[in-house]
Amino acid sequence: MNKEVLIFSAMLLPWLVSAQQLRSLSPDIERRIDSLLQIMTIEEKLGQLNQVGPRWNSETEEPERSYQGDLVRRGRIGSFLYLVGAEATRKVQRIAVEESRLKIPLLFGHDVIHGFKTTFPIPLALSCSWNPELVESTARVAAVEATAGGINWTFAPMVDIARDPRWGRIAEGAGEDPYLGSVMAEAQVRGFQGTDLRQRDALLACAKHFAVYGGAESGRDYNTVDFSERTIRDVYLPPFKAAVEAGVGTLMSAFNEIGGVPSTGSKWLMTDVLREEWKFNGFVVSDYAAVEQLMNHGVASSREEAGVLALNAGMDMDMVDTIYTNELIATAKAGKLNIKAVDESVRRVLRVKFAIGLFDDPYRNCDTTIAAPVFMKKEHHALARRAAQESIVLLKNEKGILPLAKKLKTIAVLGPLADNRIEWCGPWAGRVEEGNFTSVLDAVRSKVESGTEVLFDKGCEVIGDSGYNPSLAVGFAKQSQVAVVVVGENANMSGEAASRSNIDLPGKQKDLVKAICETGTPVVLVLMNGRPLTIAWEAEHVAAIVEAWFLGVGSGNAVADVLFGDSNPSGKLSVTFPRIIGQIPIYYNHKNTGRPIREADKFTSKYLDVSNTPLYPFGFGLSYTTFEYSNLRLSSPEISMNQELMVRVDVTNTGKRDGDEIVQLYVRDNVGSVTRPVRELKGFEKTGLKAGEKKTVGFTLRPEDLAFHNIEMKQAAEPGKFTVYVGGSSVDGLETEFELK
Ligand code: BGC
Repeated sequence: MNKEVLIFSAMLLPWLVSAQQLRSLSPDIERRIDSLLQIMTIEEKLGQLNQVGPRWNSETEEPERSYQGDLVRRGRIGSFLYLVGAEATRKVQRIAVEESRLKIPLLFGHDVIHGFKTTFPIPLALSCSWNPELVESTARVAAVEATAGGINWTFAPMVDIARDPRWGRIAEGAGEDPYLGSVMAEAQVRGFQGTDLRQRDALLACAKHFAVYGGAESGRDYNTVDFSERTIRDVYLPPFKAAVEAGVGTLMSAFNEIGGVPSTGSKWLMTDVLREEWKFNGFVVSDYAAVEQLMNHGVASSREEAGVLALNAGMDMDMVDTIYTNELIATAKAGKLNIKAVDESVRRVLRVKFAIGLFDDPYRNCDTTIAAPVFMKKEHHALARRAAQESIVLLKNEKGILPLAKKLKTIAVLGPLADNRIEWCGPWAGRVEEGNFTSVLDAVRSKVESGTEVLFDKGCEVIGDSGYNPSLAVGFAKQSQVAVVVVGENANMSGEAASRSNIDLPGKQKDLVKAICETGTPVVLVLMNGRPLTIAWEAEHVAAIVEAWFLGVGSGNAVADVLFGDSNPSGKLSVTFPRIIGQIPIYYNHKNTGRPIREADKFTSKYLDVSNTPLYPFGFGLSYTTFEYSNLRLSSPEISMNQELMVRVDVTNTGKRDGDEIVQLYVRDNVGSVTRPVRELKGFEKTGLKAGEKKTVGFTLRPEDLAFHNIEMKQAAEPGKFTVYVGGSSVDGLETEFELK
């Protein structure tokens, strides 16, 4: 082995440890589980499959006297949800491991989605950084803080592909693309779980929601899904598979049905695909009360029937329904429960508890002394600001109005979110504290040179009509050289149960923007939102648009860094922006149809009233510099099924500033046994280029990268011609062809 290979394997090794801890079974752990299973009563077995929300006496903090303390003592609870704080978890863990018969430790689960104490950008924003190392670091910090806060299990990453921005939970995922989604899924699993699951700061991850939750009809949360198996396998499942391959310890079943079968009762998903095909060894937890909801779906007529259905399908742990531990004990005693299925589920839960070292150190997340020094460390804040900078996407910059000069006579900072602190953390903000934020207004004030006057007015509220009074804002805009208008959504307008049928700027904000635009002062729109918005009017009339999502604690500073050029924006959209709501679902990797659009021909696939193109395509984002692509070349015009293809392109920074470009590789499979998307992302590389610098960026394409579910529903690449595109977005790029033989 040469030196380079040695260094490379040494670098890979730490992560492989954690990835492999649940990928391959440990005979020692399996033996210990066998011994436990032999002595467990049915109550204790079903107890391991029971996750409860805490009913904690917060005044006395005395779980011992509570009903739940007693249940823990009797081995009837396997995990707590939302019990936070090392002191609280220590108390209840002590009951489990010192007072219960079998001394099986508890798991403490919580939604640590984009930070625990230090709030990072929402996952949708982070995915626009196209920087997996950065995303991994944010998840690592979240894990370090959360594990110091008593938790050992997070319900993240959410890896649901979302092609419908009406769906509020689009904010929690990595957007519309299965490849980018898979890369982000792996990065988060690595970050949360760390290099070794047994370490005190490793946070067990949970890929959710299995599956196709993001496909909800009409973007309405929890709604029905009815997609083909091919679309499910080619588009929606890859990020889950990637998470499993990265060693994720758990998955969460989804609320929705797919084609008549609710995910939480789907044997196909949880047993055939997940365990048999993917060899997943961890366990599946239901979503909140999803087992009982099988009755609402109409596939079970009682709680007992719902429990039996879920358990037999491979759903291991019941979140908060208490069906497994209540109804199913009687079912078992009546000889009507499949005990083999129970044992398998218990085995999976115990396997994870062993794998994370909980039996050896049950108090690993219950150390009350470490939280304070870990929370909100300076380095965590610095990372949050960098993550926020890299998540920002510059959508428009007419005549190079941005970056702004720091020395101006007067600048107006307007809009209902300009001086807001708390909304910037977005949904699932963790345990954030308001004092930790700088608003955009504060950040602009501290950025400009002395002598620059900064004028501020809200103009309206985020939602509703009350409080609309644009006159002061308009007056300030008139007096200023530039107006920065900060508008968008409140945090609770995206996330769970936050679907919108209209994704325009809410309330009177559009009117405010119009009134400010009428002054003739150039407008820089800063958008804060958890989903793409329909902003066609704004895009036409304002001078610049900074898409800032919900950026967390670094938000105000990062926005000001970009506005004044201390950070050159490099983010690219991980999701398509429609022109109007009627275009939804709209995504870049669509099919060609039998009548692809030709403007001159009415009888082709298009609308009478709007173009087929989006307002801003997937992969798009501007910089303060410009990049030119040239000399796209392949290592060979053809490859065989066991060869690799090298794709190379030269990228030149043709502007006057240093900048980062996200170079994207797309492929089209020209003819297949089934129809194929017009383009599919197959690789990307974020690369820094000094002004005037030229670099060669290379990608390796292997035949397995070209695989899809063919006419026989087998995953395989098919021989034939492929078009390769390399460029700065899903609609740009140089192209060439090769043949797979
Ligand atoms: C959400 C999950 C979340 C769970 C626990 C549910 O309502 O759908 O994503 O993990 O609650 O908080």
